[in-house]
Amino acid sequence: MSANEPRTLLDQAVRVRFAPSPTGRMHVGNARTALINWLFTRAHGGEMLLRMDDTDAERSTKENEDQIYKDLDWLGLDWDDFARQSARHDRYDLATDKLKASGRLYACYETPEELELKRKIQLGQGRPPVYDRAALDLSPEEHQAFLAEGRQPHWRFKLLDAPVAWDDLGRGHVHFEPGSLSDPVLIRNDGRPLYTISSVVDDGETRISHVVRGEDHVVNTAVQVQLFEALDFPVPTFAHLPLMVGADGRALSKRIGSLALHDLRDQGIEPNTINAYLAHLGASIAPDGTEDLTALVKRFDIAGYGRASPRFDMKELEALNAKVVHHLSFDSVRNRLAADGLAAADEAFWNAIRGNVGTVAGAGHWWRVVAGEIEPLVADEDRAFLKDAAAHLPDGLWDQDTWGVWTGAVKQATGRKGKQLFMPLRRALTGREQGPDIKDLLPLIDRDRVLARLS
Ligand code: GLU
Repeated sequence: MSANEPRTLLDQAVRVRFAPSPTGRMHVGNARTALINWLFTRAHGGEMLLRMDDTDAERSTKENEDQIYKDLDWLGLDWDDFARQSARHDRYDLATDKLKASGRLYACYETPEELELKRKIQLGQGRPPVYDRAALDLSPEEHQAFLAEGRQPHWRFKLLDAPVAWDDLGRGHVHFEPGSLSDPVLIRNDGRPLYTISSVVDDGETRISHVVRGEDHVVNTAVQVQLFEALDFPVPTFAHLPLMVGADGRALSKRIGSLALHDLRDQGIEPNTINAYLAHLGASIAPDGTEDLTALVKRFDIAGYGRASPRFDMKELEALNAKVVHHLSFDSVRNRLAADGLAAADEAFWNAIRGNVGTVAGAGHWWRVVAGEIEPLVADEDRAFLKDAAAHLPDGLWDQDTWGVWTGAVKQATGRKGKQLFMPLRRALTGREQGPDIKDLLPLIDRDRVLARLS
């Protein structure tokens, strides 16, 4: 099928791939690509292939690869099929032979410095820096001379002198004029195939129907469309999504280190937060913190993403995380609380405090408030009042009604009301001016501990 033939979304079985390179840690940008591929395939009853793009042997590590599995697992994103590029070199060799046989691959000998010089000259003349195809004019003797010099050729793919166009699910109609693209290098001079060809061979042989990736790949797509055709593969449907930028509108990549998924996890960001945030970023509706993956699949619409670069804002992520944490059940956090040393924390405690923490780890503070040592906040002018209040602390009844009964009695005895009444008690009992409902917190604090904090 030609790339120019429009395709509707669902006239083919959906099969997508997420293709990380294990040359570094997964960051929010990769997570977004993985998530959107996953949501797209689950929304259309398709299949997702996880493909390790590990042909760069120097930079790919087992540790990075394992971390990718862990990160995907943490996010709850599963996959139906798996491929590894480093195990598929024979397939790339066959494709290379096929292109050589059809005259679409040609040997070039320019050094990086020579290419850079050509580019500079072109730019200086106001021309686009497109490869001039000088190597196509080399005679057999000139080839021999380069080889005799010890130069190993790299191989370029000869683009057809025809426009390239496709209907993109993210960008609408995309069009490249002939002559605006350089013939891409597919094989390096050490014989290693480059991503441009390995990805096409894989997408073709693993029958990928939809390639969903960042818009930084649009130019790759333009040449890859011709490569799919030259290798007799059907051309997949493409969806290029605008890249995220930081809250300041600048590229995210500079700060990618701090936006690694495992760092966000260490900061207490929940997987549901990341999923809901990234799924809605650039779309018109905002998440409310109750969404799980099932809800995100139901709501998913790849056409719902705008064309502008969405801003990834850590403050928004943290605010959403607080909402997500507010909805977490005690069962879902029990083990994590125990791992944080809060093994004795129970459901009543969690339900009382979850609305006042930004992260699950934030429960530690409120656990110290109810079960440990804290410094009460007591103003000098409140000392006598607190002593009075202590004298009226109910004996026996120790539940959510206690606070109402107690403050009713203190009000009668002291004449204080409103903020004057409640704030000194809250400060003395919790050491803070804000926090969970005291009526829920009070019964969790030991009565003697309450008395001690009042005196
Ligand atoms: N390994 C490539 C990358 O991480 C895959 C790009 C693609 O989706 O084709 O950029």
